[in-house]
Amino acid sequence: MMSIEKTVSALGEFQLIETLFSRLVMADDKRIIKGVGDDSAVLNIPRTQHLLTTTDTLIEGVHFNSDTDPFILGRKALRVNLSDIAAMGGVPHWYVLSLAIPSTTSLKWAEEFARGLDEAGKRFNVSLVGGDMVASTGPIIITITLNGLVGEGRAIMRSSAQVGDRIYVTGTIGDSALGLAHRLGRVKISDAHHIEFLKHRHQIPEPRLSVGKMLQDTAIARSIIDVSDGLVADLEHICSASGVGARLHADKVPLSDAARAVLDGDDTNRMMQMVLTGGEDYELIFTASADIADAISDITDQTGVALTEIGEIVKGESVVTVCRDGEPWVLERGGWKHF
Ligand code: ADP
Ligand code: MG
Repeated sequence: MMSIEKTVSALGEFQLIETLFSRLVMADDKRIIKGVGDDSAVLNIPRTQHLLTTTDTLIEGVHFNSDTDPFILGRKALRVNLSDIAAMGGVPHWYVLSLAIPSTTSLKWAEEFARGLDEAGKRFNVSLVGGDMVASTGPIIITITLNGLVGEGRAIMRSSAQVGDRIYVTGTIGDSALGLAHRLGRVKISDAHHIEFLKHRHQIPEPRLSVGKMLQDTAIARSIIDVSDGLVADLEHICSASGVGARLHADKVPLSDAARAVLDGDDTNRMMQMVLTGGEDYELIFTASADIADAISDITDQTGVALTEIGEIVKGESVVTVCRDGEPWVLERGGWKHF
């Protein structure tokens, strides 16, 4: 006889919360007065700290597919929020999860999703302290709201870039977009290791928490943003918030070996634009005054994350000029927008 897969409704709402979601908590977090299990979580915020709060929604059919591995989805859902806390220079602590799933969703899916959250939670030391669970008549909708702390008055905003600042970026840019493009059949890559690397970069973003925290501790960065919409689009967000312009040198943008190999192929122009505008890199862009080269190499030494200078803030109103070989280069596509 064929076994019928157990669905979430076999367990029921409260059992589901109890067995899957009430355990994703860091036992040593003394600031959690009450986590899952009451009408609201109760958290002890130190007087000297400001609370950071950020949220992200993932919708089946928009951000992921019904056949997306739920373990990877759980990891990614939390990591994209962690990246937003990194981009303020803060330390993440607590999150709530709102989960809308059809009652026919397999229990296995929910278990694997919770396992993904657990993995990311343990890795970055954050606790699930509450949430909501509803039956969806349509797609799966996952909303995570993450809270973090940063010293009073020390959150690093997008709005404080200054003319003359140098623009830096962490890690490498474009891997995620190329990984997605490969999956969608829009780019041909032959090297199996490169395919695997780019796919991983798309599926499992690496929130740059240690870099963000150090930029904040050392007061090096004037402004920070994380790259979700695309390098150019997110740099534009810094510019418009700060009332400045930027010059971005495309040839200085750091690339992985895999991305470099794609760009060495025959569609260099289109691929370079994909790198600059594709998004979901979850790297940090930050601006800093020109005289901090030593501090930059300290951060790289301590975090193991490469920091690369890619341009400078100039006078202007939210204009990003992309230069290649020193000449202005007009891109054909902007960053990702939902509407
Ligand atoms: P209420 O009806 O008071 O809003 P619920 O019955 O929705 O509370 O939830 C009961 C408890 O379970 C609450 O503490 C809530 O935060 C928690 N909870 C509900 N859904 C989730 C979830 N998906 N993940 C974690 N905790 C959850
Ligand atoms: Mg209640």
